[in-house]
Amino acid sequence: MNKQTSDEENLDLNIVAQQQFDRALTWIDDVKAGLIAYFVNPKRTVHVRFSITMDDESVQTFHGFRVLHNRARGPGKGGIRYHPNVTESEVSALAALMTWKTAIIDVPFGGAKGGVVCNPKELSRAELRRITRRFVIELGDAIGPHTDIPAPDMYTDEQTMAWIYDTFDILHPGQNNRAVVTGKPLELGGSVGRDAATGRGCLNATQRLLEHGIVENLSDVAGARVAIQGVGNVGSTSMSLFHEAGARIVAITDSHGGVANEQGLQPNTVIAHKKECGSVVGLPETVTITNDDLLAFDCDILIPAALECQIHAGNAADVKATLIVEAANGPLTPEADDILQKRNVTVLPDIVANAGGVAVSYFEWVQNLENQQWQLEKVENRLQLRMNAAVDSLVAQWRLLQQKKDRGEPTLRNAALVIAIRRLSDVILQRDIWM
Ligand code: NAD
Repeated sequence: MNKQTSDEENLDLNIVAQQQFDRALTWIDDVKAGLIAYFVNPKRTVHVRFSITMDDESVQTFHGFRVLHNRARGPGKGGIRYHPNVTESEVSALAALMTWKTAIIDVPFGGAKGGVVCNPKELSRAELRRITRRFVIELGDAIGPHTDIPAPDMYTDEQTMAWIYDTFDILHPGQNNRAVVTGKPLELGGSVGRDAATGRGCLNATQRLLEHGIVENLSDVAGARVAIQGVGNVGSTSMSLFHEAGARIVAITDSHGGVANEQGLQPNTVIAHKKECGSVVGLPETVTITNDDLLAFDCDILIPAALECQIHAGNAADVKATLIVEAANGPLTPEADDILQKRNVTVLPDIVANAGGVAVSYFEWVQNLENQQWQLEKVENRLQLRMNAAVDSLVAQWRLLQQKKDRGEPTLRNAALVIAIRRLSDVILQRDIWM
């Protein structure tokens, strides 16, 4: 996808991610230049082309790829998406984001992402199964419990992960292969709490950030007015959990539009209406709003939990929230960051805000390697500890950057990337660059 809001602003996620990385580098003096060049491009990209027999007996050929951005801190980790418009460029950007996310949440993984160019809406379940199995066979040892571990992403789910595990297991008999993918069904070694992990991590991170007292005029989730873009996994879980924590959900949208109620929406009724009607639009006792209205809604916390590049140079000035929590990957452009910073709007960056998903994926991997099944309470407690630690180190780093006054005002995104880049560089140098 290569959209533009103006002649100047490019909305390609790969370019956005590169700009964010370049900005973070202006705050670092002590990382070797050659290493920085190494981080710009992925370590490896595997392209595969494969054919399957369709339900009508015709044959179709598909293109799939797996990008491993870096695995110095541990095996690659990242989702596989099935989408007609998925590109190597987009997947490379997401793989790099995974490298930074796994570093800041401090799980022993690197960053990876994959995709197959296909339209799942036009494919039967049997065709999707054949695509998945063939894709895994073609990837061969490019994935594995200790090399690169896929997970669900756009239009892939726990069923897809079950097929990946089964195919990999047939190819590698006689060993415990459960840890080759995360996001599996519970019966196959999935973790309790994985479904809600990203939304729960968002809440944990927001609460911890507010406890640090660095968001102007906002000290608690309880009582805050919250607007959410997206009613999928992350958006709907965030809605329920922020509501449980005492926030008032004043507006929410999906791809058809949205609904608002100043008195507060009831998450259960929003989810039930969406299930029944396919959209939140039309929910009784609400006002219908557009996605533009949502982003400019009068609220304390805005949670973009749908798509990338939603807040950009063209609409950042309209945002009324005090705090933006990036539940989606890459929902803000660098120009939006600048405009919001000048307006004193705090942005909790994606690589921290939505890292709860990969944290619980790590727990699933550990449970699989140890043949254990943790209780929900243990998963949730450990998630909270990791989110708290990530936010504490983020705020500490941000305060350190603030002392470099000659370089301007740092954002939390600058601080998050500085931590991640340093952690990765340290590990690479400790392991030693050899030959
Ligand atoms: P999902 O497919 O379950 O939900 C996406 C939601 O976005 C849907 O409700 C859809 O209606 C809505 N949407 C689509 N287009 C929209 C538009 N133009 N305006 C408003 N809403 C629109 O996806 P998800 O798993 O909830 O992921 C959402 C975001 O969070 C993505 O950026 C994803 O990469 C990121 N993320 C997800 C996880 C996870 O564990 N699921 C982890 C980390 C990051």
